[in-house]
Amino acid sequence: MLNFAQKKNIGYAVIFWAGIVSVPAVQANRLETFMLDKVRNRIEFTTQVQVEPRGQIITNPTRLVIDLPGATYEGPTVRRNVGSMVQSLRVGRLDSITTRLVVEFAPDFNVDLLDQQPLRMEAKSPSRWSIQFPTTVAAAIQNTATTFIMPAIGQISSPFGWRIHPVTGVRTLHKGIDIAAPTGTPILAAAEGIVNDAGWDDGGYGNFVELRHPDGTLTLYAHASRILVSKGQEVSQGQLIAEVGSTGRSTGPHLHFEVMINKVAVDPSPYLRSDFVILNLASR
Ligand SMILES: [Zn+2]
Repeated sequence: MLNFAQKKNIGYAVIFWAGIVSVPAVQANRLETFMLDKVRNRIEFTTQVQVEPRGQIITNPTRLVIDLPGATYEGPTVRRNVGSMVQSLRVGRLDSITTRLVVEFAPDFNVDLLDQQPLRMEAKSPSRWSIQFPTTVAAAIQNTATTFIMPAIGQISSPFGWRIHPVTGVRTLHKGIDIAAPTGTPILAAAEGIVNDAGWDDGGYGNFVELRHPDGTLTLYAHASRILVSKGQEVSQGQLIAEVGSTGRSTGPHLHFEVMINKVAVDPSPYLRSDFVILNLASR
C-alpha cells in the first residue's frame, strides 16, 4: 500500500510523462477581436480565455490604453483609421506576455474633461470586455461630421492604396476609392459642407467637386460628366452635386472619391457610414 508521499510522486510522474509524449496543451491566450461600437459609444474586445485588463487614459496626445497581461499577440502592430475624433484603433505587443490596445484621439481633443471621468471596464464574460466611453468622448464622436454616406450607388471597383495605374501603368498611390456606375448616376454630398472648389482639373480628375465639411475634412468627387454646384455654395448631406462620368484620366464611367484630413488623402472606407469598426485578429 502506498503512503501519501508516494502517491503524490506517482501523480507527478504521470503528468511529467504525459507532457513528454503528447504536445503540451499550453496555448497562448490570444486576442480575438477589438471593436469600436459607434452607436453604443464603447469599445469591446475578446480573448480566447479570461483576462484581467488594465486601462488608463493617457494625455499628450490623448489616448486610451488597455493592457492585457497574459494575452500574447504575435503579429505586427495593426492600426486602423477610424475618423477625425477617434482617429485610430491600434493593437500591438507591449512585451512577450502583454498585448496593448490603444484608442487614439485627435491631437486637439479636450483632455481636461477626460481626466475627470474614470474608465468603466465591464466584463461581459471573463474573456469579453466592454469599455464605455466617458460621455464627453461619446458626444465628441457623435458630433463629428466624418460619418459619410456612400456618394454614389455602385460597386467599389478600386480601393484606396498602392496600385499599378490603369492608364499610366506606373505604380502610384490611389488616393481614393473608385465607385463604378453608369454615366449620369447621381453623385451625392457625403456630408453637409461648403463647395470648396468645383470645375475642371488638368491633372487627371477631369470635372470635379471638392467639399469642405464643418470639422475641416475635405471630400473630392472626380471624373464627373456634369457639375451641378458652384464654389462657395452650401450643400446638405445627400444633396445632388454632380453626375458620374469618365472625364479626365479615366478608363470608364466611375466616381473617384477622396477624403482628406489636414490635406492628406486617407482611406475613405473607415469614414463611410458604419456602426462598427472591427479588428478581427483571430486568424493571426
Ligand atoms: Zn480613382
